[in-house]
Amino acid sequence: MRFIASTAGIMASRKDTSSKDISADERVYAAIASALLQGKLAPGAQLVERELAAAFECTRGTIRKVLARLGAEGKLTLEANRGAFVPSPTVDDIREVYRARQVVEAGIVASLCGALSVKALRALRAHVKAEQRALKAGSAAECVRLAGHFHVLLAELAGAPEVEAFLARLVAKTELYKALFDPSKLSNCSSDEHAQLIDALEQGDLDAALTAMRTHIDELEARVLAQAGASRTSDLATIFALA
Ligand SMILES: [Zn+2]
Repeated sequence: MRFIASTAGIMASRKDTSSKDISADERVYAAIASALLQGKLAPGAQLVERELAAAFECTRGTIRKVLARLGAEGKLTLEANRGAFVPSPTVDDIREVYRARQVVEAGIVASLCGALSVKALRALRAHVKAEQRALKAGSAAECVRLAGHFHVLLAELAGAPEVEAFLARLVAKTELYKALFDPSKLSNCSSDEHAQLIDALEQGDLDAALTAMRTHIDELEARVLAQAGASRTSDLATIFALA
């Protein structure tokens, strides 16, 4: 799987993000991250430094730096002497990451249940409103960002920075899985389900809150897994259509 579709995807995103106000590094980073999160890059596609440098009219040094950053964030797979690739997770890889989310987020729910301040509840509800606005506006990138951030915000409110950092990494992985295997829907999280969870947390109903979180993550996982084995054929069709 080479770079033809990938270039088209990135070039499309590049228009959205180019601005003289941000550095070349940030511009290239934002464009590639956005193309990944919008499912424009096929699993396993190689990101070739030379081709990216030409596409973005920047140096290979800039591209190398950006690819290293995306690799460190788990958004790309870096292979010594081979280069950077869009991750191509197996079904077992995917299950493992959602399982980790279930364990971590059950702990977060338990520590927050019945313990959220008025200010924290207000922030969570404002976040859900922002999700609804983004969905209405059809803003895919914003929907994905806000959906993931809701979960990280809960970890932040739990006051555990180590857990927050760990969860942010897990959420980034699942955002990517959603983009790779379930790119058709705008958001990977339903704002209604987020609202139900907030209600249960506010009421201090631990059973309801744990069930709400578990069901929510189960559904995200099920949608990704349903497509994980089937997406390659349609990706090839897309690649040839764009070539
Ligand atoms: Zn969610």
